[in-house]
Amino acid sequence: MKSPVTVIGLGPMGATMARTFLDNGHPTTVWNRTPSKAAPLVEQGATLAATMADALAASDLIVISQTDYQAMYDSIGDAGVKGRALVNLSSGSPGELRRAGDWARENGADLLTGGVMVPPPGIGRPGAYVFYSGPEPVLDRHRDTLAELGDTTYVGTDPGLSMLFYQAQLYLFWSTLVSYMHGAALLGTAGVPAHRFRPFAAATLEALTGDGPMGFLGILTRAIEEGASPGEANSLRMQAVGAGHVVEASREAGIDTAGPAALRDLFRRAVDVGHGAEGLSGVIDVIRHPGR
Ligand code: NDP
Repeated sequence: MKSPVTVIGLGPMGATMARTFLDNGHPTTVWNRTPSKAAPLVEQGATLAATMADALAASDLIVISQTDYQAMYDSIGDAGVKGRALVNLSSGSPGELRRAGDWARENGADLLTGGVMVPPPGIGRPGAYVFYSGPEPVLDRHRDTLAELGDTTYVGTDPGLSMLFYQAQLYLFWSTLVSYMHGAALLGTAGVPAHRFRPFAAATLEALTGDGPMGFLGILTRAIEEGASPGEANSLRMQAVGAGHVVEASREAGIDTAGPAALRDLFRRAVDVGHGAEGLSGVIDVIRHPGR
Protein backbone atom coordinates (compact mmCIF):
# COMPACT_ATOMS: atom_id res chain seq x y z
CA MET A 1 0.00 0.00 0.00
CA LYS A 2 1.40 3.37 -1.02
CA SER A 3 1.72 6.11 1.59
CA PRO A 4 -1.00 8.77 1.80
CA VAL A 5 -0.34 12.23 0.38
CA THR A 6 -2.20 15.49 0.86
CA VAL A 7 -2.05 18.14 -1.85
CA ILE A 8 -2.95 21.72 -0.93
CA GLY A 9 -3.64 23.99 -3.89
CA LEU A 10 -5.26 22.80 -7.09
CA GLY A 11 -4.07 25.26 -9.69
CA PRO A 12 -2.62 23.76 -12.88
CA MET A 13 0.45 22.52 -10.96
CA GLY A 14 -1.19 21.19 -7.80
CA ALA A 15 -3.97 19.45 -9.74
CA THR A 16 -1.40 17.72 -11.96
CA MET A 17 0.59 16.67 -8.90
CA ALA A 18 -2.51 15.25 -7.21
CA ARG A 19 -3.38 13.36 -10.41
CA THR A 20 0.16 11.99 -10.57
CA PHE A 21 -0.02 10.71 -6.98
CA LEU A 22 -3.41 9.14 -7.71
CA ASP A 23 -2.05 7.50 -10.88
CA ASN A 24 0.76 6.05 -8.79
CA GLY A 25 -1.70 4.53 -6.33
CA HIS A 26 -1.37 6.89 -3.34
CA PRO A 27 -4.41 7.55 -1.18
CA THR A 28 -4.62 11.25 -2.04
CA THR A 29 -6.39 13.93 -0.05
CA VAL A 30 -6.84 17.36 -1.61
CA TRP A 31 -7.76 20.79 -0.30
CA ASN A 32 -8.33 23.96 -2.29
CA ARG A 33 -9.64 27.42 -1.36
CA THR A 34 -12.16 26.97 -4.15
CA PRO A 35 -13.32 23.40 -3.44
CA SER A 36 -15.14 22.96 -6.77
CA LYS A 37 -11.77 22.62 -8.52
CA ALA A 38 -11.35 19.27 -6.77
CA ALA A 39 -14.27 17.66 -8.64
CA PRO A 40 -12.29 15.92 -11.44
CA LEU A 41 -9.78 14.60 -8.89
CA VAL A 42 -12.52 13.30 -6.60
CA GLU A 43 -13.95 11.49 -9.63
CA GLN A 44 -10.53 9.86 -10.01
CA GLY A 45 -10.52 8.71 -6.38
CA ALA A 46 -9.15 11.65 -4.39
CA THR A 47 -10.68 12.63 -1.06
CA LEU A 48 -11.70 16.26 -0.75
CA ALA A 49 -10.90 17.37 2.80
CA ALA A 50 -13.78 19.25 4.39
CA THR A 51 -11.41 21.35 6.49
CA MET A 52 -7.74 22.22 6.56
CA ALA A 53 -7.41 20.26 9.80
CA ASP A 54 -8.74 17.15 7.98
CA ALA A 55 -6.32 17.76 5.09
CA LEU A 56 -3.36 17.96 7.47
CA ALA A 57 -4.46 14.96 9.52
CA ALA A 58 -4.83 12.70 6.47
CA SER A 59 -1.12 12.37 5.59
CA ASP A 60 2.34 12.82 7.01
CA LEU A 61 3.38 14.28 3.63
CA ILE A 62 1.69 17.57 2.74
CA VAL A 63 2.54 18.86 -0.72
CA ILE A 64 1.66 22.53 -1.23
CA SER A 65 1.41 24.19 -4.64
CA GLN A 66 -0.17 27.64 -4.62
CA THR A 67 0.45 31.03 -6.18
CA ASP A 68 2.77 32.16 -3.41
CA TYR A 69 3.82 31.60 0.19
CA GLN A 70 1.20 34.00 1.57
CA ALA A 71 -1.40 31.53 0.26
CA MET A 72 0.06 28.86 2.56
CA TYR A 73 -0.38 31.06 5.64
CA ASP A 74 -3.87 32.12 4.50
CA SER A 75 -4.90 28.50 3.92
CA ILE A 76 -3.39 26.84 6.97
CA GLY A 77 -4.36 29.61 9.37
CA ASP A 78 -4.20 28.22 12.86
CA ALA A 79 -4.78 24.58 11.89
CA GLY A 80 -1.98 22.65 13.62
CA VAL A 81 0.91 21.48 11.45
CA LYS A 82 2.81 19.76 14.29
CA GLY A 83 4.65 16.65 13.13
CA ARG A 84 3.82 17.18 9.47
CA ALA A 85 6.30 17.18 6.59
CA LEU A 86 5.32 20.25 4.58
CA VAL A 87 6.75 20.31 1.08
CA ASN A 88 6.01 23.67 -0.47
CA LEU A 89 6.59 23.73 -4.23
CA SER A 90 5.22 27.27 -4.73
CA SER A 91 7.53 30.03 -5.85
CA GLY A 92 8.54 32.98 -3.71
CA SER A 93 11.60 34.96 -2.74
CA PRO A 94 14.38 33.07 -0.93
CA GLY A 95 13.77 35.34 2.09
CA GLU A 96 10.12 34.30 2.22
CA LEU A 97 11.14 30.65 2.07
CA ARG A 98 13.60 31.11 4.94
CA ARG A 99 10.90 32.81 7.04
CA ALA A 100 8.55 29.96 6.18
CA GLY A 101 11.21 27.49 7.40
CA ASP A 102 11.31 29.36 10.74
CA TRP A 103 7.51 29.44 10.90
CA ALA A 104 7.31 25.67 10.34
CA ARG A 105 9.97 24.97 12.98
CA GLU A 106 8.19 27.21 15.51
CA ASN A 107 5.01 25.22 14.84
CA GLY A 108 6.65 21.81 15.21
CA ALA A 109 6.66 20.96 11.49
CA ASP A 110 9.38 20.36 8.92
CA LEU A 111 9.42 22.44 5.77
CA LEU A 112 11.10 21.31 2.61
CA THR A 113 10.97 23.93 -0.15
CA GLY A 114 11.07 23.18 -3.84
CA GLY A 115 11.27 24.77 -7.25
CA VAL A 116 9.64 22.71 -9.99
CA MET A 117 11.55 22.94 -13.25
CA VAL A 118 8.79 21.90 -15.65
CA PRO A 119 5.31 23.21 -16.52
CA PRO A 120 2.26 21.12 -15.52
CA PRO A 121 2.32 18.74 -18.54
CA GLY A 122 5.93 17.86 -17.70
CA ILE A 123 5.19 16.70 -14.14
CA GLY A 124 6.16 13.06 -13.72
CA ARG A 125 7.58 12.88 -17.25
CA PRO A 126 11.16 12.12 -18.24
CA GLY A 127 13.36 15.18 -17.83
CA ALA A 128 11.25 16.64 -15.01
CA TYR A 129 13.15 17.69 -11.91
CA VAL A 130 12.61 19.68 -8.75
CA PHE A 131 15.23 21.60 -6.76
CA TYR A 132 14.70 20.86 -3.05
CA SER A 133 16.25 22.50 -0.01
CA GLY A 134 15.70 22.33 3.73
CA PRO A 135 16.05 19.28 6.02
CA GLU A 136 17.39 16.43 3.88
CA PRO A 137 16.04 13.63 6.15
CA VAL A 138 12.52 14.83 5.20
CA LEU A 139 13.36 14.43 1.54
CA ASP A 140 14.92 11.03 2.22
CA ARG A 141 11.77 9.91 4.05
CA HIS A 142 9.51 10.88 1.15
CA ARG A 143 11.91 10.64 -1.76
CA ASP A 144 10.16 7.74 -3.49
CA THR A 145 6.83 9.57 -3.47
CA LEU A 146 8.26 12.96 -4.47
CA ALA A 147 10.31 11.31 -7.24
CA GLU A 148 7.00 10.53 -8.95
CA LEU A 149 6.78 14.26 -9.76
CA GLY A 150 10.31 14.43 -11.17
CA ASP A 151 13.93 13.87 -10.18
CA THR A 152 14.61 15.05 -6.64
CA THR A 153 17.58 17.38 -6.85
CA TYR A 154 18.69 18.33 -3.33
CA VAL A 155 20.72 21.54 -3.16
CA GLY A 156 21.26 22.22 0.57
CA THR A 157 19.86 22.86 4.02
CA ASP A 158 19.09 26.58 3.50
CA PRO A 159 15.32 26.66 2.68
CA GLY A 160 15.92 29.63 0.35
CA LEU A 161 18.38 27.74 -1.82
CA SER A 162 15.83 25.81 -3.89
CA MET A 163 14.35 29.14 -5.04
CA LEU A 164 17.77 30.63 -5.79
CA PHE A 165 18.52 27.69 -8.11
CA TYR A 166 15.01 27.92 -9.57
CA GLN A 167 15.29 31.66 -10.21
CA ALA A 168 18.83 31.41 -11.60
CA GLN A 169 17.52 28.83 -14.06
CA LEU A 170 14.40 30.86 -14.88
CA TYR A 171 16.42 34.00 -15.60
CA LEU A 172 18.71 32.02 -17.90
CA PHE A 173 15.71 30.47 -19.64
CA TRP A 174 13.77 33.72 -20.09
CA SER A 175 16.69 35.92 -21.08
CA THR A 176 17.95 33.36 -23.61
CA LEU A 177 14.54 32.89 -25.19
CA VAL A 178 13.72 36.61 -25.16
CA SER A 179 17.07 37.22 -26.90
CA TYR A 180 16.06 34.65 -29.48
CA MET A 181 12.75 36.47 -30.02
CA HIS A 182 14.60 39.78 -30.30
CA GLY A 183 16.88 38.30 -32.96
CA ALA A 184 13.91 36.86 -34.83
CA ALA A 185 12.11 40.23 -34.70
CA LEU A 186 15.22 42.08 -35.89
CA LEU A 187 15.77 39.71 -38.82
CA GLY A 188 12.06 39.76 -39.51
CA THR A 189 12.24 43.48 -40.31
CA ALA A 190 14.45 42.51 -43.27
CA GLY A 191 12.04 39.78 -44.38
CA VAL A 192 14.03 36.89 -42.89
CA PRO A 193 11.70 34.25 -41.39
CA ALA A 194 12.47 32.84 -37.93
CA HIS A 195 13.15 29.35 -39.30
CA ARG A 196 16.24 30.70 -41.09
CA PHE A 197 17.59 32.07 -37.81
CA ARG A 198 16.81 28.96 -35.77
CA PRO A 199 19.75 26.74 -36.90
CA PHE A 200 22.27 29.51 -36.23
CA ALA A 201 20.74 30.14 -32.80
CA ALA A 202 20.79 26.39 -32.08
CA ALA A 203 24.46 26.13 -33.09
CA THR A 204 25.34 29.03 -30.78
CA LEU A 205 23.49 27.51 -27.83
CA GLU A 206 25.22 24.18 -28.38
CA ALA A 207 28.66 25.75 -28.82
CA LEU A 208 28.28 27.75 -25.59
CA THR A 209 28.09 24.54 -23.57
CA GLY A 210 30.91 22.77 -25.43
CA ASP A 211 34.69 22.76 -25.09
CA GLY A 212 35.51 24.69 -28.26
CA PRO A 213 36.48 28.36 -28.64
CA MET A 214 32.81 29.34 -28.15
CA GLY A 215 32.52 27.24 -24.98
CA PHE A 216 31.77 30.27 -22.82
CA LEU A 217 29.85 28.41 -20.13
CA GLY A 218 33.07 26.69 -19.11
CA ILE A 219 35.29 29.72 -19.82
CA LEU A 220 33.10 32.01 -17.69
CA THR A 221 32.76 29.46 -14.88
CA ARG A 222 36.53 29.23 -14.57
CA ALA A 223 36.94 33.01 -14.79
CA ILE A 224 34.21 33.66 -12.18
CA GLU A 225 35.61 31.10 -9.74
CA GLU A 226 39.23 32.18 -10.22
CA GLY A 227 38.33 35.88 -10.14
CA ALA A 228 40.39 36.39 -13.29
CA SER A 229 38.99 37.93 -16.44
CA PRO A 230 41.50 37.80 -19.28
CA GLY A 231 40.57 40.09 -22.17
CA GLU A 232 42.84 38.76 -24.90
CA ALA A 233 41.31 39.13 -28.35
CA ASN A 234 37.83 40.17 -27.18
CA SER A 235 37.97 42.98 -24.70
CA LEU A 236 34.90 44.12 -22.86
CA ARG A 237 35.47 47.63 -24.27
CA MET A 238 35.06 46.22 -27.80
CA GLN A 239 32.00 44.22 -26.73
CA ALA A 240 30.39 47.32 -25.15
CA VAL A 241 30.68 49.09 -28.51
CA GLY A 242 29.23 46.02 -30.24
CA ALA A 243 26.33 45.92 -27.78
CA GLY A 244 25.64 49.56 -28.67
CA HIS A 245 25.41 48.52 -32.32
CA VAL A 246 22.68 46.02 -31.47
CA VAL A 247 20.72 48.87 -29.85
CA GLU A 248 21.24 51.02 -32.96
CA ALA A 249 20.22 48.18 -35.28
CA SER A 250 17.04 47.67 -33.26
CA ARG A 251 16.26 51.39 -33.27
CA GLU A 252 16.82 51.60 -37.06
CA ALA A 253 14.57 48.57 -37.55
CA GLY A 254 11.85 50.17 -35.44
CA ILE A 255 11.71 47.40 -32.85
CA ASP A 256 11.97 47.57 -29.07
CA THR A 257 15.41 48.44 -27.69
CA ALA A 258 14.90 47.80 -23.96
CA GLY A 259 16.66 44.40 -23.81
CA PRO A 260 19.76 45.32 -25.83
CA ALA A 261 19.98 48.74 -24.11
CA ALA A 262 20.02 47.07 -20.67
CA LEU A 263 22.84 44.81 -21.85
CA ARG A 264 24.80 47.70 -23.39
CA ASP A 265 24.43 49.75 -20.20
CA LEU A 266 25.69 46.87 -18.08
CA PHE A 267 28.74 46.50 -20.34
CA ARG A 268 29.37 50.27 -20.26
CA ARG A 269 29.20 50.37 -16.48
CA ALA A 270 31.72 47.55 -16.30
CA VAL A 271 34.01 49.45 -18.66
CA ASP A 272 33.55 52.67 -16.66
CA VAL A 273 34.67 51.01 -13.43
CA GLY A 274 37.83 49.69 -15.07
CA HIS A 275 37.06 46.32 -16.68
CA GLY A 276 37.38 47.47 -20.30
CA ALA A 277 40.56 45.55 -21.02
CA GLU A 278 39.16 42.36 -19.50
CA GLY A 279 36.90 39.78 -21.09
CA LEU A 280 33.14 39.32 -20.77
CA SER A 281 33.42 37.99 -17.23
CA GLY A 282 34.38 41.50 -16.07
CA VAL A 283 30.61 42.20 -16.15
CA ILE A 284 29.99 40.07 -13.06
CA ASP A 285 31.56 42.80 -10.92
CA VAL A 286 28.81 45.30 -11.71
CA ILE A 287 26.14 42.60 -11.42
CA ARG A 288 27.45 41.83 -7.94
CA HIS A 289 27.79 45.51 -7.00
CA PRO A 290 24.87 47.43 -8.49
CA GLY A 291 25.95 50.67 -6.76
CA ARG A 292 29.20 50.86 -8.70
P1 NDP B 1 -1.65 29.31 -9.74
O1 NDP B 1 -1.29 30.71 -9.45
O2 NDP B 1 -2.63 29.01 -10.80
O3 NDP B 1 -2.06 28.58 -8.36
C1 NDP B 1 -3.30 28.75 -7.95
C2 NDP B 1 -3.53 28.02 -6.63
O4 NDP B 1 -3.16 28.85 -5.53
C3 NDP B 1 -4.99 27.71 -6.51
O5 NDP B 1 -5.12 26.52 -5.78
C4 NDP B 1 -5.47 28.91 -5.70
O6 NDP B 1 -6.69 28.69 -5.05
C5 NDP B 1 -4.33 29.01 -4.73
N1 NDP B 1 -4.27 30.29 -4.04
C6 NDP B 1 -3.78 31.46 -4.49
N2 NDP B 1 -3.87 32.42 -3.55
C7 NDP B 1 -4.42 31.82 -2.46
C8 NDP B 1 -4.73 32.26 -1.15
N3 NDP B 1 -4.49 33.52 -0.76
N4 NDP B 1 -5.27 31.37 -0.30
C9 NDP B 1 -5.51 30.10 -0.68
N5 NDP B 1 -5.22 29.61 -1.90
C10 NDP B 1 -4.66 30.46 -2.78
O7 NDP B 1 -0.30 28.63 -10.06
P2 NDP B 1 0.11 27.21 -10.69
O8 NDP B 1 -0.74 26.10 -10.26
O9 NDP B 1 0.38 27.40 -12.14
O10 NDP B 1 1.52 27.12 -9.97
C11 NDP B 1 1.64 26.91 -8.59
C12 NDP B 1 3.03 27.33 -8.16
O11 NDP B 1 4.00 26.60 -8.92
C13 NDP B 1 3.31 28.83 -8.37
O12 NDP B 1 4.05 29.33 -7.28
C14 NDP B 1 4.17 28.85 -9.63
O13 NDP B 1 5.08 29.94 -9.64
C15 NDP B 1 4.91 27.52 -9.53
N6 NDP B 1 5.29 26.98 -10.82
C16 NDP B 1 4.39 26.99 -11.86
C17 NDP B 1 4.76 26.49 -13.09
C18 NDP B 1 3.77 26.50 -14.22
O14 NDP B 1 4.21 26.32 -15.36
N7 NDP B 1 2.48 26.67 -13.97
C19 NDP B 1 6.11 25.92 -13.32
C20 NDP B 1 6.94 25.91 -12.15
C21 NDP B 1 6.54 26.41 -10.95
P3 NDP B 1 -8.08 28.95 -5.83
O15 NDP B 1 -8.26 27.82 -6.78
O16 NDP B 1 -9.08 29.03 -4.77
O17 NDP B 1 -7.90 30.28 -6.56
